[in-house]
Amino acid sequence: MQANPIEPGFSSVATVSEVTREYLAKEHLLLINGEWVAGEQGDSIDTFDPATGEKIATVAIGHQADIDKAVAAANAAFISPWSKLSHFERAKYLSKLARLIEDHAETFTELEILDNGMPRFISALTIQNISEMFDYYAGAAQRIEGTTTNPPRHITEVAEALTYTVKEPVGVAGQIVPWNVPISTAVLKLAPALAAGCTVVVKPSEETPLSILLLGELIIEAGFPPGVVNIVNGYGYDAGQHLAEHPQVDKISFTGSTATGRKVIAAAMGNLKKVSLELGGKSPVVIMPDADLSLVVPGVAMATFFLQGQNCMAGTRIFIHESIHDECIEQIAAFARQFVIGHGLKPETFIGPLISKAHRDKVYGYIQKGIEEGATLVCGGNMLAGEGNFIEPTIFTNCTPDMAIVKEEIFGPVMAVQRFNTTDLDEIAAMANNTEYGLSGSVWTTNLSTAHSLVARIRAGQVSINCHGAIGTNIPFGGYGQSGWGREFGQEGLDAYLETKAVTARL
Ligand code: NDP
Repeated sequence: MQANPIEPGFSSVATVSEVTREYLAKEHLLLINGEWVAGEQGDSIDTFDPATGEKIATVAIGHQADIDKAVAAANAAFISPWSKLSHFERAKYLSKLARLIEDHAETFTELEILDNGMPRFISALTIQNISEMFDYYAGAAQRIEGTTTNPPRHITEVAEALTYTVKEPVGVAGQIVPWNVPISTAVLKLAPALAAGCTVVVKPSEETPLSILLLGELIIEAGFPPGVVNIVNGYGYDAGQHLAEHPQVDKISFTGSTATGRKVIAAAMGNLKKVSLELGGKSPVVIMPDADLSLVVPGVAMATFFLQGQNCMAGTRIFIHESIHDECIEQIAAFARQFVIGHGLKPETFIGPLISKAHRDKVYGYIQKGIEEGATLVCGGNMLAGEGNFIEPTIFTNCTPDMAIVKEEIFGPVMAVQRFNTTDLDEIAAMANNTEYGLSGSVWTTNLSTAHSLVARIRAGQVSINCHGAIGTNIPFGGYGQSGWGREFGQEGLDAYLETKAVTARL
């Protein structure tokens, strides 16, 4: 078992830059109608560094009355001015925000590390990605266009006519954001919504609100009109549920567990609001006999252990052809054993802590279950001592489809390996598709035909060849099956915030 990676007395708050320290020490309120306000009930919650247990900040908590105010502000801002601005004007706000994010990149990076526990290299990537996302959707906003089409027969038989379509914003969007990649998930919802002309109420996870609240400050600095973006930190069962139910909210976009996704659908039924869901996954990784192990070893280790496995597209069901199984496992395990576990602020850290003690215990429970169910523990399997919520990267082999570690989303650093001895692509695809989810997947082979034939058989919203989780601002992302509804990123991410109106003019 690895030793506790945090040296005694280490304070993350004392280690970050002065600018971040000053930000942490501020009063963190709710952003409603362009102003920072305390919640109606005046209560707050402390947030903690998951690597050390150190308190890092106190944030105000919003409840249903605060959601009501935020929704009213968003409705007023939607009617005027936001939905009335030209696409070009809206794009200017998004571009300005992208520049401000770049100016504050280091503070964002440190906040995500402290609040979520992610290693610095992931946090830095994330922050680069969010400014790119605002730039991308600033461009996309300028290309929102309808079409002209053939007018209907019943009019053209008696008169000339013109029919065209226009794209209009859906209205007020509620956006519920989880803790695993907080700022990134918030921005991949916010940027297309704002580009489309929607106004927004964001509900961060109360575990990780800090980076989203900093974004709120920059939104004010960029000059967005009051009420266009409202941020109400609060509990899911209270503020989140109320936002999903709210009759004056036209659309809800949710990222989180499949179980909560079902509650969001039920809540949205009252006014039949539009719903986008990005839910869980249990993604397959198929390693064929001719795979290039120099790609497989780091690539598959990353597929499972990136972000400590707290990643919806993590590749956690690994299928390895028996001809290379033992060699492959030996090399992946050796690779995983050398991952540096530690505080995300340290540049060498590859594996950070899990988000909370409760989540660490849940993941550890799955590891115990895997052992009880008869899987072979190849490496890892331990919690680390101390206040941080660390679990070693863990690999199980000899797994079978009925095991809990194979069927259920663990959301932790646990790889479950099954071996196969066929080259029949239908059989292999049936194993890969033996899940209620369908978010991501990958195929590892040097044969082009095998790669594309297998990809065609795998039922998932994103399938990669000789890499895993190939995500990008312009690439649609979302799930088949119980992994969700709709797509985020790219043009489809923008379309999710647009309605189409067909107009016919009798001339
Ligand atoms: P949840 O699905 O419970 O939470 C995600 C977001 O939804 C949070 O902002 C949460 O608020 C909010 N929420 C919770 N209940 C409701 C509700 N009834 N109505 C509206 N919003 C609600 O995920 P958890 O954080 O509890 O994580 C549990 C599991 O979910 C993980 O172990 C993992 O398997 C999965 N998960 C998947 C993610 C993904 O990217 N697909 C992301 C996060 C989790 P609050 O934090 O206050 O509860």
